Amino acid sequence: MIKDTKTISEPSHIGHQEGAASVQPSQPNRSNGNQSPVDHQRIERAVREILAAVGEDPDREGLLETPARVARMYAEVFSGLHKDPRIHLKRVFSESYDEIVLLKDIEFQSMCEHHLLPFHGRAHVGYLPNGKVVGLSKMARVVDEVARRPQVQERMTETIANMMEQELGARGVVVMVEASHSCMTMRGIRKSGGMCITSAMRGVFRENLASRAEILGLIMNPKHG
Ligand SMILES: [Zn+2]
Repeated sequence: MIKDTKTISEPSHIGHQEGAASVQPSQPNRSNGNQSPVDHQRIERAVREILAAVGEDPDREGLLETPARVARMYAEVFSGLHKDPRIHLKRVFSESYDEIVLLKDIEFQSMCEHHLLPFHGRAHVGYLPNGKVVGLSKMARVVDEVARRPQVQERMTETIANMMEQELGARGVVVMVEASHSCMTMRGIRKSGGMCITSAMRGVFRENLASRAEILGLIMNPKHG
């Protein structure tokens, strides 16, 4: 059994604010003069078009500012498209600590790419170091930036696990994501907010049943949350 595990619950505020300037936009945005690579005017035209298409009047007072608001919101919720989360995992330090590191309850917001509706929840990210350790806030930034793209929960989970495994060379990686999807709760027959849980295991957590049971126990144990 692996002992001396280090389990940390993540304060919800750690995340994207700090990382906002980590990657330079690839091109200036001519439409509004700021540094965002997102074409706000194009989004505004499209939102007007959607409003008209559903039978609304885009020129009525309550909707006049809506296209611009939606453009600003999309620039924010898709800001991860213009960032490389791997950057955060390259700032490692050498450490002889070779037990599990688990960061629980990393809150995230994402957008389902099938419906462009939000899904949100918590990610738990753990790894078994192999001489390289990364700062806990960096793990939270990776989750945040991977989430801020058009996403599906399954791919989000796999992407985070692959980045952790490849950049840290960890002996094992586990990523578990619990989320509530607006496209399930708003539409169709599923009215209740059921949680969708996905997980990705790498290395020892995939191969060794005892190690897997241990890390899953740590994630599920409310004493550590
Ligand atoms: Zn959806």
